Amino acid sequence: MTTADRSRQLNERARRVAPGGVHSPVRAFGAVGGEPFFTASGAGSRLRDVDGNEYIDYVLSWGPLILGHAHPQVTEAVERAVRKGTHYGTPTPEEVELAEKVAAVVPSIEMVRFVSSGTEATMSAVRLARAVTGRDLILKFEGCYHGHGDSFLAKAGSGLATLGIPTTPGVPKEITQLTLTVAYNDRQEVAEAFKAYGDRLAAVIIEPVVGNAGLILPEPGFLDYLREVTRRHGALLIFDEVMTGFRVSLGGAQQRYGIIPDITVLGKVIGGGFPVGAYGGSREIMARVAPQGDVYQAGTLSGNPVAMAAGLAQLQILEREDPYDLLERRATRLVDGIVEAAGGHGIPATGAVAGSMWGVFFCEGPVRNFADALRVNRGLFSGYYRECLSKGVFFAPSPFEAGFISTAHSEADVEQTLSVVEESLARAAAQG
Ligand SMILES: *Cc1c(COP(=O)(O)O)cnc(C)c1O
Repeated sequence: MTTADRSRQLNERARRVAPGGVHSPVRAFGAVGGEPFFTASGAGSRLRDVDGNEYIDYVLSWGPLILGHAHPQVTEAVERAVRKGTHYGTPTPEEVELAEKVAAVVPSIEMVRFVSSGTEATMSAVRLARAVTGRDLILKFEGCYHGHGDSFLAKAGSGLATLGIPTTPGVPKEITQLTLTVAYNDRQEVAEAFKAYGDRLAAVIIEPVVGNAGLILPEPGFLDYLREVTRRHGALLIFDEVMTGFRVSLGGAQQRYGIIPDITVLGKVIGGGFPVGAYGGSREIMARVAPQGDVYQAGTLSGNPVAMAAGLAQLQILEREDPYDLLERRATRLVDGIVEAAGGHGIPATGAVAGSMWGVFFCEGPVRNFADALRVNRGLFSGYYRECLSKGVFFAPSPFEAGFISTAHSEADVEQTLSVVEESLARAAAQG
């Protein structure tokens, strides 16, 4: 069992000076009950909290740390960079190198613009798509997350293919009325949206593999259909690969599934644990971005050399070691083990893996979209989650988040995790 005195004290202090005690909502553990632990340090596959408890970490900073915590070569690259100063506000060699690397490994990208978060990158990508097409509407999918830009905080209005309504106060409906939302993996709904609004749609934006509703894979032919229908109607296809980029394969989901989007959005892994986002595409499209073109977008700390050095070091290691088959095997062993353990206790479960992303839903499969994902047994998940955490396994504190695995996770880590999962499911099942 873990102790939590210092975490509890810090949480009390934090709640007085920050909303909910956190600086990003999901960290507050609201979906599973209980309180967050405060981290003191990370190394490899492990986190250590301020009370001295150790956890096998499957959150990995919510995606970026595909090599695990404090990888020696990434840390060294950061130390080397930081000694030369932290930011200059001029171009640097590091940003050229990282841009060249990104263009070399991501199939759709010839030119790229670095920003400081995934949110910034998706907002900029949509602006660019609107400028290129001269149209205003965008189409997104229920359960896909594209950061917290106003346009994306929309859900479907009443009835199919109606213009969107805000999901949070503070977003004007005039903005979300420019966003259509349909079900993931549902060609029929996409077709109807194009039928009604095809000549007004600037772009379709999608997580090609959904990681923000739990892990949901695209059905065969779905991404091909989006490529075809956008082209036919003169809309752009935007792949939000903030999570999948360099994770489901080195070249992202577009490489894994062989689909070339018009604009690709990146984040997370690209920054090696530092705040970096990026958007890129063909020379023709990216030529519209200022100062080469007329579409304004800027950032004081964009291309930060320390962040660039971290991202570059991480990508170089990924390219050299090509760990994706190994990561997928480990993730598959984990998911199969969890689903089997659940079955042993009469708990319905269905799992999926894509490279180093994995997920298990505690409900009958298949889970094809967000509405299906909502069938999960949340009460069971919360009990199971807290048991796992108390036994030193840190999963994402929500049933609607993908899990990750890093090259630092050994076979022994996975087996240890599965024995914790078995015990935790037994207790959660017994508690009903
Ligand atoms: C995390 C995420 C974002 C937002 O990135 P931030 O860096 O948190 O702003 C956007 N899209 C996807 C698919 C993500 O997973």
